[in-house]
Amino acid sequence: MSDCIFCKIAGKAIPAELLFEDERVVAVRDIHPAAPVHLLVIPKAHVATLNDAAGEDDALLASIVRAAAAVARAQGVAGSGYRLVVNCNRDGGQEVFHLHAHVLGGRKLGPMG
Ligand code: AMP
Ligand code: ZN
Repeated sequence: MSDCIFCKIAGKAIPAELLFEDERVVAVRDIHPAAPVHLLVIPKAHVATLNDAAGEDDALLASIVRAAAAVARAQGVAGSGYRLVVNCNRDGGQEVFHLHAHVLGGRKLGPMG
């Protein structure tokens, strides 16, 4: 197992409450929530950034988006609305270099950027 924190969460090497799981992804709560609902959808495979996702990762990318919608529904924000965010590299504010998507909701979100 690598030293990657999200590999450890997705691989269940460290305990975390999984709000969603399928064969390709898991979803957990962000430890520093920026909104009342702040979830992370994390692929089980290690892909460092969105730039590193290749054509062979298309099913994985689809799973991330579909899991985000499913977990948003399960957490009660599908109707009120939510935002799906993928940060990439320095200007995107990426801190953990294992691809993941943020699901933010539970309040009216401000403009982006
Ligand atoms: P990013 O800036 O897109 O790389 O976001 C990384 C996110 O991961 C941040 O919002 C952190 O609060 C969150 N995070 C870091 N470590 C953990 C962890 N062990 N469990 C849950 N969320 C985490
Ligand atoms: Zn990883």
